[in-house]
Amino acid sequence: MKRRQFCKTLGIAAGALCTSVFSNNACKSSSRMKQPPNILFIMADDHAAAAISAYKGFLSSFIRTPNIDLLAKEGMLFKNCFVTNSICTPSRASILTGKYSHKNGCRTLNDVFDNTQLTFPKLLQKAGYYTAIIGKWHLKSEPTGFDYYNVLPGQGRYFDPHLIEKGIPWQRGRKESKQYKGYVTDIITDIALEHLKNRPQNKPFCFLVHYKAPHDMWEYDKKHAHLYEDIEIPEPENLFDDYQNRGEAIKRATQKIDMEETLFLHKTQGHQFDNVRAKLSKLPPREQKRRAYQIFIKAYLRCVASIDENVGRLLDYLDEANLAENTIVVYTSDQGVFLGEHGLFDKRFMYEESIRMPLLVRFPKEIEPGSINNDIVLNIDFAETFLDYAGLPIPSEMQGQSLRPLFQGKKPKNWRNSMYYRYWMHRAHFNVAAHYGIRTNRYKLIFYYGLPLDANGAIPEPTPPEWELFDLENDPNEMRNVYHDPAYANIVKQLKTELLHLKVKFDDKDDKYPELIKIRNQIW
Ligand code: CA
Repeated sequence: MKRRQFCKTLGIAAGALCTSVFSNNACKSSSRMKQPPNILFIMADDHAAAAISAYKGFLSSFIRTPNIDLLAKEGMLFKNCFVTNSICTPSRASILTGKYSHKNGCRTLNDVFDNTQLTFPKLLQKAGYYTAIIGKWHLKSEPTGFDYYNVLPGQGRYFDPHLIEKGIPWQRGRKESKQYKGYVTDIITDIALEHLKNRPQNKPFCFLVHYKAPHDMWEYDKKHAHLYEDIEIPEPENLFDDYQNRGEAIKRATQKIDMEETLFLHKTQGHQFDNVRAKLSKLPPREQKRRAYQIFIKAYLRCVASIDENVGRLLDYLDEANLAENTIVVYTSDQGVFLGEHGLFDKRFMYEESIRMPLLVRFPKEIEPGSINNDIVLNIDFAETFLDYAGLPIPSEMQGQSLRPLFQGKKPKNWRNSMYYRYWMHRAHFNVAAHYGIRTNRYKLIFYYGLPLDANGAIPEPTPPEWELFDLENDPNEMRNVYHDPAYANIVKQLKTELLHLKVKFDDKDDKYPELIKIRNQIW
């Protein structure tokens, strides 16, 4: 595969001088560029950082994602990018609006995105960008702010998917959509490439290419059916986590890797799985779990293989069209996901694997090749980043920070040292309790308040409130809740103060929920 290697040593923008007519806020990090950069924002669905070889996680000696890795080699890899609410619809809404779920109205999977609100594609479009989104949308209302869209209805299908193209009356049903023959990851790329090639040449572009994979049910392309076939994939060290020294929430949750769940979620290859079930059911429970993990992780990684190939096709096009130099390429996922860590799959919890988004960014004009960033960055930061590069004012309602100075290797003095997280959809899926919390560079404090409140789709059955505290320096796998350890009493106090400060800062104060305030007063 031909690739231009960027041997960039110069070219970091001067940055500090703000001479535009825009507000101070707009000029937080740098000046307007002479030629606004193109943006190619590639986002997968449920792609864990551990399943990208550049992250050097527990799978890295076995998996290869050379095309995604190229973005790390030629750009910057972020080790601590976090989602603010670890499920699909809310993360997508936060990315578009630069706001927390309680501000953009998408707190749960059941919420419909208010498409009249401000989004970064809308603002870029007004400023003269050609904007497009292809692939997964999952926000229910019609995409707005895009010159072109062609999106999957709902979750979409892996094989022969329907897509709804701009111009067709917007419906969530499939009647009005067009069916494409083939594998969804290839099809999304085909459409994206066709429209990249045919875009108006006189405008900068912002293309959002959103893959459906590797979301469950992990239906891989038939051509990858034999990938990893004869290999035993490594297990995470806590696959057999027994949840001792933890709260009740993780014990209560049902997203556990075991034979029944794995076979159920993976029923798409049903005819083969009846045989597998017969075989597995004869094994002792521990061995069943091992086999179930292998079935799950291999299907997952085969889906990832298609994504990586298709990222390669997009990058090849940028090279061929001489666009690589002035295009910001982002690869990320709407959230992280457990790949057997704690014996879990899926996401939702505020644990590391669930909240960590992979983030790799290439922009030769400003990013040093092979650079690594360890700062806390969030899904609400993308919108301001792109507006910053377009030289546009940042709306005061946006709650993130532009990543541009981090791209340039210049961490601002006031960069955040902590992040606020909240999962609203109480017990709706896998029985995960509603919770919020704070993660700093070293600690994580989680408050499982266990109430549905007024969140759409939440189950109206409370769970007992509880706390978890993890010392990520001494316990990176989050195996020991030290909330009740007297040695951490002062840390708990400080974190609670900071957590309340973040709740005020992001205007998520819970004033309208007396039942929650009551619980908080009892056990804070
Ligand atoms: Ca997702």
